[in-house]
Amino acid sequence: MLEAIYPGSFDPVTYGHLDIIDRALHLFDRLIVAVAERGPKESFFNVEERVAMLKEVLADRPKIVVSHFDGLLADYAIRERIRFVIRGLRAVSDFDFELQMALTNSKLAPGLDTVFLMTKETHLYLSSSTVKEIAKLGGDVSEFVPPLVGERLKEGFKKEI
Ligand code: ADP
Repeated sequence: MLEAIYPGSFDPVTYGHLDIIDRALHLFDRLIVAVAERGPKESFFNVEERVAMLKEVLADRPKIVVSHFDGLLADYAIRERIRFVIRGLRAVSDFDFELQMALTNSKLAPGLDTVFLMTKETHLYLSSSTVKEIAKLGGDVSEFVPPLVGERLKEGFKKEI
């Protein structure tokens, strides 16, 4: 059985992530969507909230497991015996960082390969940060995230004020 892991902050999950997930499902028998508990930036939603949103949004898709991990992705992949990592690429600006990460991960976990999927054109400028910025300013995010995520964003920013 061919398995892959799709790691990220998913703070929150967007249609860009979902597009990558659906396309990865054409390539792999099982996909672990893994929420990084601690990322380089502080997250808006805590890890439980991010996992819960992913689970709800992905509930109707088979072959998916939503989980979370703390620490190094390479260690997690070794523990789970996963050989492939999925990452999405939007613009050239993503490339440098992703190349560094892919090379570092294969050094830390020999045999671990990163599979890159190009973003769909319509999602080229879509990122979780942009979505949060729009929601914070009271804008409509329905084009970018599933309805339940839009609701959670609204609730989250209401609490903040
Ligand atoms: P980061 O690790 O930068 O916080 P995320 O956790 O939001 O990124 O996303 C995880 C993965 O999903 C990354 O590989 C990222 O490039 C990819 N991704 C995010 N948004 C999109 C999008 N709109 N189209 C394609 N890939 C995306």
